[in-house]
Amino acid sequence: MQTSPSALVVSIHDVSPLTRERVGEMLSDLAALGVERTSLLVIPNHHYRAPMTEDPGFCQWLGDLSSRGHEMVLHGYHHRRASIEAGSAPLEKKGPSSSLRDHLITEYYTAGEGEFYDLSEPEARQRLDRGLEDFQAAGFHPTGFIAPAWLLGEEAERAVRGAGFSYTTRLKNFKDLESGREVVSQSLVWSVRSAWRRQVSRWWNASLATRLQGNPLARVGLHPPDWDHPAIRTQILKLVGAMLAGREVMTYDQWLAHLRTQ
Ligand SMILES: [Zn+2]
Repeated sequence: MQTSPSALVVSIHDVSPLTRERVGEMLSDLAALGVERTSLLVIPNHHYRAPMTEDPGFCQWLGDLSSRGHEMVLHGYHHRRASIEAGSAPLEKKGPSSSLRDHLITEYYTAGEGEFYDLSEPEARQRLDRGLEDFQAAGFHPTGFIAPAWLLGEEAERAVRGAGFSYTTRLKNFKDLESGREVVSQSLVWSVRSAWRRQVSRWWNASLATRLQGNPLARVGLHPPDWDHPAIRTQILKLVGAMLAGREVMTYDQWLAHLRTQ
């Protein structure tokens, strides 16, 4: 029986007019290693400050990347958690048992960026439709939606499926939204907001990369600020370089197509 190739998906989160230059550097470093296609997680209006629809140069740049094999993935709309926008105290409604965990998720892990974490289905749908409209205006027809900080609530997931997306990912898995099939594979991701986080991240990701060796899917999730830190950037390129041996580089939509043939 023929064994199918193992895959490596490198994704770059938070692609927007605000991060374009940095993402360009990341892409050239990755291309120099041999990673010629990535999944680009694009924010239609990053923090309300960078509407892609008003930046034809940005859309053209994305269009060029798309024609070279990179995938455009919808990544939230503003990328900021709604309850934080409204200045309310969103954690109380979930009750005391989950509030500490939510607090930790919100404050320490996502820094308030979990836009799709606690949206109702209609609220989520509205943002998704708006995002799809902006993408379509630029000529993109995304098959994937990935929530900011991978935090996708249950209601929001129903909205994502209802809006016609084929897949989503979370920190620990990839999900085919048509069949409901999930593939367990924890993404490498770096937290760079402080020196101790960078230290822990380097240790954690080296160990995670080793544990993923037998997994058919390896995922590397990058953020533009990762490139501010030479030690992190060097480690990322080293780990990605090592993962290339024995893995085929693909985008998430290619991985989905591959999965559906299994
Ligand atoms: Zn993000």
